[in-house]
Amino acid sequence: MHELAIAENLLQIVNETIKQHHLIKVERIKLKIGILTAVVPEALEFSWRALTKDTMLEHTQLDMEIVPVKGRCKGCGKEVFYETNDAFCFLCPDCGGEIEILTGRELNIEEIEGEGDEDSSC
Ligand SMILES: [Zn+2]
Repeated sequence: MHELAIAENLLQIVNETIKQHHLIKVERIKLKIGILTAVVPEALEFSWRALTKDTMLEHTQLDMEIVPVKGRCKGCGKEVFYETNDAFCFLCPDCGGEIEILTGRELNIEEIEGEGDEDSSC
C-alpha cells in the first residue's frame, strides 16, 4: 500500500524533527501533496493514525493540501493547469506541444507545528 510507505517515511521525518527541536507536543503537520503522486488523503490519514496510535503523535492534526499540476509548454511557453491526475500525456491546448511538468509531483512537509520544552531546559 502506497500510503502506508509514505506515512512511515513521514513519521521518520517527524520523529527526527522532534528530537532535533526537543518537542514535547506536535500540534499540526502541514503537507503539500502533488496530485500526480496519486496519494489518497483519506488513506494517508488512516495509515498515519494506525502508525501513531498510543504515541505522542496520536492527536496530531494532518493538514493536506493537494497541489494541482502546473506545466509549461516547451513549444510556445503557455502555462497550463490540470486538476486531475488521469491525463497520462499532457499536451499544449494551443500548439499541441509537449508540456514540461513544474508542480504536481511533490510530497513535502511544509511545516511541523509543535511545542518545545524550553521552559524546562534552563
Ligand atoms: Zn504550446
